[in-house]
Amino acid sequence: MFSNNVKRLLVRHTKCSIRTTSVRCLSTAEDVTSLSKSTTNFKGDYDVIIAGGGMVGCSLACALAKDSLLSNLKVLLLEGSPNKSFQLKPEYSNRVVALNQNTKALMSSLDVWRHVEAMRLQPVRHMQVWDACSDVMIAFNSEELLDDDVAYIVENDVMLHAINKELSTAKNDNIQIVYDAKIAGYQLPKQEDLKPKSSVQMANGDTYSCKLLIGADGANSAVRKAMGVQYLSWSYEQMGVVATLNLSEECENTTAWQRWLPTGPVAILPLDSKRSSLVWSTWQDDAKELLKLPEDQFVDALNDALWKQYPRNTGIETVTSWTSSWLKRVGLPDGTARQLPPSISNVVPNSRAAFPLGFGHSTRYIGPGVALIGDAAHRVHPLAGQGVNLGFGDVKDLTHLLSEAMYSGLEITHPDWMGKYESVRQRHNVPTQLMIEMLHRIYTVDLMPVVLARSVGLQITNALQPLKKMIMSHATT
Ligand SMILES: Cc1cc2nc3c(=O)[nH]c(=O)nc-3n(C[C@H](O)[C@H](O)[C@H](O)COP(=O)(O)OP(=O)(O)OC[C@H]3O[C@@H](n4cnc5c(N)ncnc54)[C@H](O)[C@@H]3O)c2cc1C
Repeated sequence: MFSNNVKRLLVRHTKCSIRTTSVRCLSTAEDVTSLSKSTTNFKGDYDVIIAGGGMVGCSLACALAKDSLLSNLKVLLLEGSPNKSFQLKPEYSNRVVALNQNTKALMSSLDVWRHVEAMRLQPVRHMQVWDACSDVMIAFNSEELLDDDVAYIVENDVMLHAINKELSTAKNDNIQIVYDAKIAGYQLPKQEDLKPKSSVQMANGDTYSCKLLIGADGANSAVRKAMGVQYLSWSYEQMGVVATLNLSEECENTTAWQRWLPTGPVAILPLDSKRSSLVWSTWQDDAKELLKLPEDQFVDALNDALWKQYPRNTGIETVTSWTSSWLKRVGLPDGTARQLPPSISNVVPNSRAAFPLGFGHSTRYIGPGVALIGDAAHRVHPLAGQGVNLGFGDVKDLTHLLSEAMYSGLEITHPDWMGKYESVRQRHNVPTQLMIEMLHRIYTVDLMPVVLARSVGLQITNALQPLKKMIMSHATT
């Protein structure tokens, strides 16, 4: 139960920006202090505390609120940034994510997808990925490989707003959100504790305690650090340059394009009939130069990256053209039928930005009474558009396993379900991370034997529909 101070605070905070909803919002941790200084700094005991209210942390709060067996749990979501009001602007945000079918299914089950659809999204029905060093390509078409679209391009802000909107209408009084939460540290239970309890200390001296602590606090996770688990990580020494682009010609624009340059992939993701979003991964110094370029020169550099003919190796040309004619002879797609990428007319002013890219794998996703989800547990290069999809997969499996555990009468921190969560997720996430890592490594070299092997490999993969289906099905689940 809440202390009287927290109850009084909740009443007062019906004035906060989501007051019309039943999700209670303590707008700042300072507010909590000012109301309760008279007694103690202990602010309440919760079943679950979620540290981090990004797309993944918020969707977990929403999933807990929506599950009939979990909706009675008292949940506190602590988010470090302020509670910003959201308004859909005519111009697109430069931060977008490609969401797969599994994410769409999860978000539909949480009633979040309808809010995304009511705002905006762009379906991806085709994908074309090609190699600058050999022009060999692979294409994915939704009608051939899936019953539905390949992916959806959604702005991060739109996604987060849709999740929060549904969370606020979930009519669940047990979910509280503290924005502007400055977390100073965690005290985690020991292995031998039979009834684990974590304590969260705020910078203003407040403390909260909980049975189950969830680290959804991103790649730099303080929860993961407090767990003291091994974290395998490295920087790619690359940045992802993002921007919103205007196309030279209006078109259906449902194709996602990605060209592998020796410096990293450049991807153009559709937003609507005349706009696309850019994710251009390149070396840190090049990225900084790209940000400084005048807009017209940036567009020239981008069109160059999409169209420029790189020096060809005649040996590779001979082998790939032989492979292509052999594929044709045996009645398989030879990869010569391709669409041409769009030409970019200009970049939307002030839409350019760059983000550091890195790899991260936490060897453990769980500890006594603690679990990691999203980028706190795993971080990948954006080349395959998988990062947040993996995080949403964690949310789905964690909620499902916790719900099953509660149904069987287990404690919410029982090692059985938590162990299952770790093994189910690592069995999916680690191979995906390795695949992305392998792609990154084989495509950022231009050594002749590597280019030859990857080119022929790509030609054969493109020709084999069942193999493409398998790739697609792994990427969408
Ligand atoms: C250029 C680029 C393109 C990408 N494209 C795609 C894509 O197409 N598809 C895809 O699936 N993924 C993509 N990703 C990856 C995706 O953005 C991330 O996987 C996703 O944002 C991770 O979400 P998260 O909620 O786990 O972490 P975060 O988004 O990092 O959220 C963590 C939250 O925790 C809060 N927090 C952190 N520390 C504290 C603290 N101490 N106290 C309180 N709160 C705290 C932060 O304020 C933040 O809100 C891309 C990434 C980049 C860089």
